[in-house]
Amino acid sequence: MTTKTATIAVPDSLSQTAHDFIARQRGALIDGVIVEGDGPEFTTIDPSTGTPIATLRESDAQVVDQAVQGAERAFREEWSTMLPARRERLLHRLANLIEEHAHELAEYDALEGGKPISYVEAVDLPLAVEQFRYYAGWPTKITGAVVPVSTPNAHVYTQKVPVGVVAAITPWNFPFCQAAIKLAPALAAGNTVVLKPSELTVFSSLRLAELALEAGLPAGTVNVVVGTGAVTGDALTRHPGVRKITFTGSDRTGRILGALAGERLIDASLELGGKNPHVIFADADVEKAAAYAATTAFFYSGQVCFSGSRILVERSAMDRVVETLRTHAQGLTLGHGLHTETTMGPLSSAQHLEKVEGFIREAQEGSSTVAFGGHRSESAGTGYFLEPTALISPTDDESVVRSEIFGPVVVVQPFDTFEEAVDRANDTRFGLTAGVWTKDAARAHRFAQSISAGTVWVNTYADYNAAAPFGGMKDSGNGRDCGPEGLEKYLDTRTIWMSIE
Ligand code: ADP
Repeated sequence: MTTKTATIAVPDSLSQTAHDFIARQRGALIDGVIVEGDGPEFTTIDPSTGTPIATLRESDAQVVDQAVQGAERAFREEWSTMLPARRERLLHRLANLIEEHAHELAEYDALEGGKPISYVEAVDLPLAVEQFRYYAGWPTKITGAVVPVSTPNAHVYTQKVPVGVVAAITPWNFPFCQAAIKLAPALAAGNTVVLKPSELTVFSSLRLAELALEAGLPAGTVNVVVGTGAVTGDALTRHPGVRKITFTGSDRTGRILGALAGERLIDASLELGGKNPHVIFADADVEKAAAYAATTAFFYSGQVCFSGSRILVERSAMDRVVETLRTHAQGLTLGHGLHTETTMGPLSSAQHLEKVEGFIREAQEGSSTVAFGGHRSESAGTGYFLEPTALISPTDDESVVRSEIFGPVVVVQPFDTFEEAVDRANDTRFGLTAGVWTKDAARAHRFAQSISAGTVWVNTYADYNAAAPFGGMKDSGNGRDCGPEGLEKYLDTRTIWMSIE
């Protein structure tokens, strides 16, 4: 196999360490070794400039097979049988290494994902560390039960056991953070992992696998394969050695993986999209609510599954909310992900930018009006920049109100009564998150308990913690990341019957 020198064209502000790491990458990282294979080449793009970064080879079925076999061996021989306290210690070590290399890791996501580096360092990296620290506490606390069966002379107990090799498929919007959210509980439960990051954002996951080795996790415990969903993702999730799929991404892919898992009789946890209602009552601290709404809707250019992109406002507060959204939007600095002053980066790809523009166009052709924004921002650079945008939509049937846009686009809509707010907030096929702002505690609880969503934030929005279960209802998927629920899905139950006659 001829080894091709990676094309590497990156901004000057990238550290030498990150530059050298990118230049070394060829393809998968399996059993601690870079494996290029014979798959087709693919090139990652810097969305802040639209220029290519590096060219790697897609992990084809043969490379994927090698990764799963490596993970099976590590599972059998080392990781699943390791003493829990040792697993705990290694996961803490990995957390320490992530903290030590936080800036470098943030650079990869800022470069490939166009994410403002100051946010990645302030939000994504601490969240990832927290995942490993939280789940590091679990190996010593996973217990079964003694079962009080109504059978004479029987001693029956259960054990919680790891499922085996986990296929973790992650999206491009939180590459490092999502890898941590999948890996930490899977590893704590005693499973080994083959991780496939999005083909748009590969480097932070590859570096994570290297750090796992450096922390002392046995080779084969964390493997990374790279490539598209159609080639690498498909080969991985169909591999008979994979015993569990954990996925974050679109509901379109979630359905494919759910069906495949059904066929294979394995479990799939699917964290999918959302069209999340963010409801502001007029008795709330309206300016604070609107500032939160703006921050969390334009955060990472709205490319966030829990983005509160549908803002429902009690009619008398509409003007104040729109003005606060506008002020916030005007205060954003669009620019390259690696620049520290950037507070909003580009969209992930040219194709995605066009898709988001299509939503805005369609809304304007319908009954919506643009309050602000709506255009590409050419002054921010040659990449895929779109102005923060607010649309006012009088009806609920337009696609800008119903679809997940995944861009810096909010739709603002007035409502008149509590019942109307609840009904319209629930009138979506998704059920990931919702937010409500009111000073009336009883109303807040009534609202929260009436919403079909996996998470409801009251007088706050977008808080996330490793201890708090997160995931969706309805078309937003099944299973939960984080908390004890996030661990449970990586464990199987073995029941042992013993005669004590
Ligand atoms: P998005 O539209 O946000 O990119 P996707 O669901 O397409 O979301 O992608 C999320 C992840 O799923 C990526 O890593 C992608 O490569 C992967 N993926 C896409 N299609 C498949 C598939 N058929 N099988 C396995 N993985 C897939």
